[in-house]
Amino acid sequence: MSDDGIMTTPPEFPIEDIAPTGDVVLDVKYSNGRRGYRVESSDLKKSSRYFRALLGSGFSEAKSVEEGLARLAIQGVKPSEAPADSLPHIEIEQDDVGSRVPSTYLFAAFPDLLRIVHGQAVTSVVKIRYLAALAVIADRFNCADAVSRTWASVVGNSKRTTWLQSPPPNYAPGIDSKLGLLEEEEIRQSILVSWIFNLPREMYVYTQALIRCGSRLWLLQEEEAGHQEDGAGLQEDDASLWGPWWDLPDGLEDELQRRRECIMATLASIPRHFLGLYLSRQRQCPLGSASCDSFHLGEMVKFLTRRWLVSLVDFSPNGAGHLPNAIAACASVQPNRILSILREMPGYQIDDSHKSCGPRRRMQRILDCMGFALASKSIPIDWDGWKTDRASASWFSSDAGHKVYTFRFDLHLTMDHFVNGLHGSEQLMKSMFTANEWDWTPEP
Ligand SMILES: [Zn+2]
Repeated sequence: MSDDGIMTTPPEFPIEDIAPTGDVVLDVKYSNGRRGYRVESSDLKKSSRYFRALLGSGFSEAKSVEEGLARLAIQGVKPSEAPADSLPHIEIEQDDVGSRVPSTYLFAAFPDLLRIVHGQAVTSVVKIRYLAALAVIADRFNCADAVSRTWASVVGNSKRTTWLQSPPPNYAPGIDSKLGLLEEEEIRQSILVSWIFNLPREMYVYTQALIRCGSRLWLLQEEEAGHQEDGAGLQEDDASLWGPWWDLPDGLEDELQRRRECIMATLASIPRHFLGLYLSRQRQCPLGSASCDSFHLGEMVKFLTRRWLVSLVDFSPNGAGHLPNAIAACASVQPNRILSILREMPGYQIDDSHKSCGPRRRMQRILDCMGFALASKSIPIDWDGWKTDRASASWFSSDAGHKVYTFRFDLHLTMDHFVNGLHGSEQLMKSMFTANEWDWTPEP
C-alpha cells in the first residue's frame, strides 16, 4: 500500500499493457514469478462468466476494485490516464491450472487469452501444445465462447499457426515402448482444443484418429485390469501421461475408449464366428462333404494362428489365461489392418468341385461392408451431437449392458447401407458395433 492507500506494485513485478487505458491490473502468480496485466474490466466481464461473477457483486475483489476506482476519482484521476501501479489490482491464482499445464505455455497463453478477450491478435506461435494450454485456461476462466467466436480471425488464419497443417500421423501405441506417445499426445490435445473451442471438423478428424490408432493409456488400463484379476498390485502412474488431455473432459475419454473397444470386439467376432461354424456339428459344405469342412477348419486355424489373430491355449498352468504377446499386440493395431489380414485368408479348396466352399468366400461381403463401416461418419464423435444430445450420441447403452443384443448380419445389406449419410445407416452402424453377440451368417 502507498501513503494514499492505493495498492501499488513492487518494482520487480512487470506490468504488461494489454489495454493501455485499462482500469484494472490482473496480478498473476505463475510458478516462476509474478506478472501484471493492465486490462479493461468491461471487456473481461463481456467475454468471461468467471470475471463477470468475480467483478460483479458480492466478491471482495469487486469491492476492492470499486474502492480503488473511487480513490482515483477523489484524486481527480481518470483510470484510463492513471499509471498502472495506481490502478486497483486483482490477484489471480493459477494454481489449479498451473498444476495441469506446463508453465511456459501458461505464461504465453494467459496474456494471449486476455488479448483475444480485448479483440486483439495473439502474439505467440500457435502450436498445438500452446493451443491446448489456451483451451484449458479459457475453460477455467469461462471464456471459451469468446475465443470460438473470434477463432478464425485470431488463431485460425494466423500465419503463425502450425496446427492442422498436416493430418494426424498414424501410430501404434505400445505398453513397453513409448513409440507414438508424441503423436498420441498431439491428437489428444487437438481433441481437447476442438471440443472446448467448438471446432466440429477438427473434432471429427482427431477423434477418428484416436479411435483408429488407440491409446497407450487404454492399453495400460487394460493391463492393469488384468493384473488386478491376477491379484497383482496396481502399476505406478505413468509420468509421461501428464496433462489434462490424458483425461479428456465431458465423457469424451470413456466414449472414445468405448468406441475403439466396440470396433475391435466386432472385428474379432468375425473369425470367431466362422471358427465356431466349422467346429460345430453342422455341415458347412453345400455338397455335404465332411472332409471339405475339416480342410477349411484346418486352413482357417493355421492362418489365424500364424497371423496372431487367434491362439490355441491348453490346460497347463502356464497355458490358460496367458496369451502370447503377439496376440496382445493385435489389440493396439488399427482396425483396418485387422480387416486386411482377414481379407488375406487363403481360398484353397480340396478340389475343383468345391470352388464355392470355405470361409474366405463367405466372409467377403461382411468384410466389404465392414470396410465401409470403418470409414463412415458414425465412428468419430460429432461435436453437435455430443454437445446437444449426449445420451443418444453415446455408444454406451443406457441399460448398462444388462441386455444381450445380437446383431444379425442381413444378407440383403449392401454397401449402400453403410455409406455415409444414408437414412438409418448411423443406427445400423451403432447397433452393429455395440452388440454383445454377432451372427454373421443368420438363417434366411
Ligand atoms: Zn465343400
